[in-house]
Amino acid sequence: MNARISATDRRKPAVLTDFDDTAAAQNVAELLLHEFGHPSWTDVRERFRAGELSLKDYQEATFLRMRADKDAMQSYVRAHANFRPYFAELSAFCRAHSIPMCIISQGLDFYIQALLDGSGQSEIPVYAVATEFDGRGRVCGYRYDFAYPEAPHLGNSKALIVRRFQEQGHHVFFMGDGRSDFEAGEVADTVFAHRQMAAMCDEAGIEFSPFTDFGPVLEAIQQYMAALNGG
Ligand SMILES: [Mg+2]
Repeated sequence: MNARISATDRRKPAVLTDFDDTAAAQNVAELLLHEFGHPSWTDVRERFRAGELSLKDYQEATFLRMRADKDAMQSYVRAHANFRPYFAELSAFCRAHSIPMCIISQGLDFYIQALLDGSGQSEIPVYAVATEFDGRGRVCGYRYDFAYPEAPHLGNSKALIVRRFQEQGHHVFFMGDGRSDFEAGEVADTVFAHRQMAAMCDEAGIEFSPFTDFGPVLEAIQQYMAALNGG
């Protein structure tokens, strides 16, 4: 188990997980772009990968040009995306023990909600970009409810949400895979990382457990609860 869990930690846990490529086995945003994106979306992605565009700008530009409406995109997500193994078991354990479990994402709320609804997990709270749709069901705007007031151009901040849970007295378990997850990994109490986030944590000397599914997370939460109840 991660050494940052100590026997003296009496805080109730909270589980916060990234969505694309973390809770979901796929990058659902890219899944939708591959199917419905304007042909220019890969050029925009190249500019994002080269560091010329932020994730926020890349996502805003590409989803505004989607060739499908909300219903079509949500149906596609339900048919083609899935959660990583043990996500449902972790969610059930958290519900049974009144442990908050939330998705925190720089992605768009409607495609996250589609997968939650499609897998019977509608009640999991989502902190994500609020997408606005026009009368035809096409994406027409975005709202960022979890941005730093002094830096709205950066979009939502995952670290802000982690801190909010810590201020409420929680030991925060965080799972992520990407650049936008790193700031949350810097402040979370127990970190699970893979892909780019794992490399960034390695480089920064931030302790983390690798993962490819939620089995190790469930085990860590169960051990934490056993220590909390038995200690
Ligand atoms: Mg991700």
